[in-house]
Amino acid sequence: MPQPVCVPCRRFYLCEKNEFNWEEGAPDSPEFGMGKRPQPEEFDFLDAYREVLKKWEAGWHSYKLWTGDKWKCPECETEIIIGAPVEPWAIRHDPDYAEKVARADPQIRVNDC
Ligand SMILES: [Zn+2]
Repeated sequence: MPQPVCVPCRRFYLCEKNEFNWEEGAPDSPEFGMGKRPQPEEFDFLDAYREVLKKWEAGWHSYKLWTGDKWKCPECETEIIIGAPVEPWAIRHDPDYAEKVARADPQIRVNDC
């Protein structure tokens, strides 16, 4: 497989880090779920949007632990994660989930289901 391509920049992404650990979140209740994410265009000020987004993200919990490769476009510095395995490294109901998360020290959580 060739390197990923940044379409707007027409550049190849460069691999920044292998085994980049990250979490997938799940909403605590349906009010935080799919389609409920605050959108920046709903706010007049970026600070107001960020404050609402921070409260919204507090309504999520760690659900799955993944690892992948982090790539970065040398032009626009957009970062992507690819190369994730078919199955997550751990899932919340695993008895040792908390230990695995602590050991993996995930760098980001994706709250987007
Ligand atoms: Zn780019």
